[in-house]
Amino acid sequence: MKLTWEAAGATHVGLVRAANEDALRLDPEHGVFLVADGMGGHAAGEVASDLVAQVVAAGAAAAVDGGARDGELVDRLRNATLAGRAAIVERCQEMPAYCGMGTTLTAVVLQRSGEAHAAHVGDSRLYRVDAAGLAQITRDHTWVQKELDAGRITPAQAQKHPFSHILSNVLTDDTEAVVDTHSLSLEAGDELLLVTDGLYNMVEDAAIAEIVRSGGTVHERVDRLVEAANAAGGVDNVTVVLIRAVASSD
Ligand code: CA
Repeated sequence: MKLTWEAAGATHVGLVRAANEDALRLDPEHGVFLVADGMGGHAAGEVASDLVAQVVAAGAAAAVDGGARDGELVDRLRNATLAGRAAIVERCQEMPAYCGMGTTLTAVVLQRSGEAHAAHVGDSRLYRVDAAGLAQITRDHTWVQKELDAGRITPAQAQKHPFSHILSNVLTDDTEAVVDTHSLSLEAGDELLLVTDGLYNMVEDAAIAEIVRSGGTVHERVDRLVEAANAAGGVDNVTVVLIRAVASSD
């Protein structure tokens, strides 16, 4: 059985920040979806996230059009992500005021067979939602996650840690990035959720799961997630993409 997708995405500036430095792309035709969370002065965060979103979405779509599948598709997705970083380096050389800008990236490419491939840098997240509940697929590239992995802090300390915003890996001009990849198999009814930290820092995973499983269209549920982040204070930009795998007759 082949799969197709119902997908919705939304981004909101939140209630505190003056600008939205998040970016997203939805390309159901190619099965390509991503979120990016930019950072940097002189409005450069918006430049970084949008540039990387554009380069990665185009690279992934070209790989799909070229017939890449499975391992080759993962390689192409990783290369597209590194090409996104190269575009940041180039922009910084043209416009020195932009140097130091960076962005996270969490991108997925879904094949109609149900195989899904993800590339990830930073602290945006990919979750899978199925009958078992909400499962975080990506690992945050943060200083706090490293401390947690090393057993030097507890999960409770990590949740409210003052350094929780410090990234250990990001797409930026002055350091190399490490691209994590993940592959998973989807069945009809499974859902993937891509978010920036403006969602999960405001809304706990259990509450995110409750909203995602609350029924309604992908559009309605995306709107509810964004509303929940803002209802909780909206201290950051928030971006959400929700994808539902559905059986297709063709
Ligand atoms: Ca953010």
